[in-house]
Amino acid sequence: MDAGRLLSEVAAALSAGTIKVVDLTAPLGPDTPVIALPPAIGKNTPKVEVHSISHYDSDGPFWAWNWLKLGEHTGTHFDAPVHWITGKDLPDNTTDRIPPKNFVAPLNVIDCSREVAADPDFLLTAEGVRAWEAKHGAIEPGSWVFMRSDWYHRNGSAETFLNADANGPHSPGPSTDCIEYILSKGVIGWGSEGVGTDAGKGATLQPPFPAHNLMHKANRYGLASLCNLDQLPPKGAILFVAPLKFVNGTGSPVRALALVPSA
Ligand code: MN
Repeated sequence: MDAGRLLSEVAAALSAGTIKVVDLTAPLGPDTPVIALPPAIGKNTPKVEVHSISHYDSDGPFWAWNWLKLGEHTGTHFDAPVHWITGKDLPDNTTDRIPPKNFVAPLNVIDCSREVAADPDFLLTAEGVRAWEAKHGAIEPGSWVFMRSDWYHRNGSAETFLNADANGPHSPGPSTDCIEYILSKGVIGWGSEGVGTDAGKGATLQPPFPAHNLMHKANRYGLASLCNLDQLPPKGAILFVAPLKFVNGTGSPVRALALVPSA
């Protein structure tokens, strides 16, 4: 295979529109919903703030620019292994040290939208992943697995997105054996449409928050608040996603993009 020729063909296909770019990212701004931790914890990530420095005015006559206040884990964002205690001592576990080859990878998209429409607490299990593989092909080492739920349609409102009641938040995610199974296949990441990578009831699973606990323990990554997964094929897309190169960062808002064959 001539890699140079292959890249030229990809460039030609992008230009012709036979490969298209799908944006998997939610708008990032003051209205972006942020996770709501139990009040007993006492600390939470802030909402996004945008502060003007100048806007073609006496503070800067020819230019407009802002400064931002935002948490690392805000909006469509990347979880680095150091985010969880299980990944805190691993090599290359922060946003600035992750090998860049891991930012471009094949994508497996498991459609759970029907199940989630019937049950917002739906958990994707290892059995569900194996059934998907029987239909679409094996999950390959070095790939990402995304759980499509169509939950992103709720992303405009914190109330419907977090979907909490007196018993806590209700949103879909992976079971423990789902994460164990995809790790056994050698994946590098797990992505979901929820506010975080785990289900709303993730705290009640064993171990608590398995997507965080087990993925990061394996030096693997997470993506949360993904959008437009309904525009992706089950297999065949290529993901481009990179956190900002924050020094010692535990995560970062991202612009997540996928290359897909045009229908
Ligand atoms: Mn996060």
